[in-house]
Amino acid sequence: MKKAHPTDQDLARWALAKLPPPRGVRGHLEECEACRSKAVQMRRLQETLTAPAAEASLSAKSRVYALLPPPVPRGKTLTAFRRAIMGQASPRLAVAGGLRGEFGVRTYVLESKESEVHLRVEGSGLGTSASLGGLVVRKRASAAGAASGTAWLRVRAEEPRFSPVLRSGEFLFPAPPAKPWILLLDWAGERTRIDSGDLTP
Ligand SMILES: [Zn+2]
Repeated sequence: MKKAHPTDQDLARWALAKLPPPRGVRGHLEECEACRSKAVQMRRLQETLTAPAAEASLSAKSRVYALLPPPVPRGKTLTAFRRAIMGQASPRLAVAGGLRGEFGVRTYVLESKESEVHLRVEGSGLGTSASLGGLVVRKRASAAGAASGTAWLRVRAEEPRFSPVLRSGEFLFPAPPAKPWILLLDWAGERTRIDSGDLTP
């Protein structure tokens, strides 16, 4: 008999972070068409997220944001952001990107109370710019459904940057700073903080 379907979180772990699927999930995927197609869709989303075409919606939204910048969390608001816990990190992958030349990519999975954050830090290659992006995945489906949110990237002595977090949980910053940074995510009712120093070196 088939086991229960894995949670979206388990599927995302495999599909988005490209980590090995948990043992139970692997067997289940072989048997379950529904979960397999869901995982394929998640992986497609991941590919879309990093493909130039997908940035259109994020960049369109970013243009709207640029007209009406969201206030940067400070003081009491800032302390409401809970530190995410480092889960897993991928090894640094050197990707032979065709025209892009070779560039390094690392993915990290961090966990907050309600969600999992899949971070993707991409180095620059030939003719390409580096990026810091990712996807927030809720651990449990929420009845209210996810609304779009905001991500801020704070770097000392620099203007804070911001990115929309789409309903899908996607966000993207071009060119991650070489200096230490703090990423603040306000999405689907949860406020999460990730410090670059928390990421596994
Ligand atoms: Zn299933």
